Amino acid sequence: MNKFVLATGNAHKAEEFAKIFNPEVLEISAAPEKLEVVEDGVTFHENALKKAKAYYDKFKTPILSDDSGICVAALPNELGIHSARFGGDGLTDKDRAMLLLEKMQDEKNREAYFVCVLCFYIDENNIYFFEGRMEGQISDTYTGEHGFGYDPVFKPLAHESDKTIAELAEWKDDNSHRAKACKQAEIFFRERNCQNGKDKL
Ligand code: IMP
Repeated sequence: MNKFVLATGNAHKAEEFAKIFNPEVLEISAAPEKLEVVEDGVTFHENALKKAKAYYDKFKTPILSDDSGICVAALPNELGIHSARFGGDGLTDKDRAMLLLEKMQDEKNREAYFVCVLCFYIDENNIYFFEGRMEGQISDTYTGEHGFGYDPVFKPLAHESDKTIAELAEWKDDNSHRAKACKQAEIFFRERNCQNGKDKL
């Protein structure tokens, strides 16, 4: 069994992780306290590592952190690792999504993708990263009530409908950038468990 404490204050992410992982392979619990970590890395990997290290240094237990965001082809430097702060401080998720629609109003190229990088920080010498992506398009309108963040303005390519992710809650659980990164991690840790089991024989 691999037990990790989740380095996030985002309840939506914690909920999504709990649904995705098979608890027989990876058991994830909430951190006893939320830490303020400055996310000033220049890549998703760097920021995920910063969060994991800060929680590990404080709680001295294996940590799972994630860094994620939306990359929009027509606005190459504005979102990505800056997605959570797009438009500045004091905006709600909905304000940021509406601002994105406004900036994309006359834009023909609507290509975008979500990225999720997971960092499993077991100790200073055992750190594993997994990445998942979900390709799609920025929609014309804000639609749907599920999920969080930019879900109501993102239409995934892999779904045959014209719906946004905020209208596809169940589908998101299996196909999101987060789900894809988690599936890779689960395969890795399942094999690692088997290997450790064999080593003990
Ligand atoms: P983080 O908490 O620093 O990883 O910031 C990620 C930001 O990217 C969030 O504030 C959301 O706005 C956006 N984001 C990441 N994953 C998703 C998702 O699954 N749906 C919608 N927005 C997301």
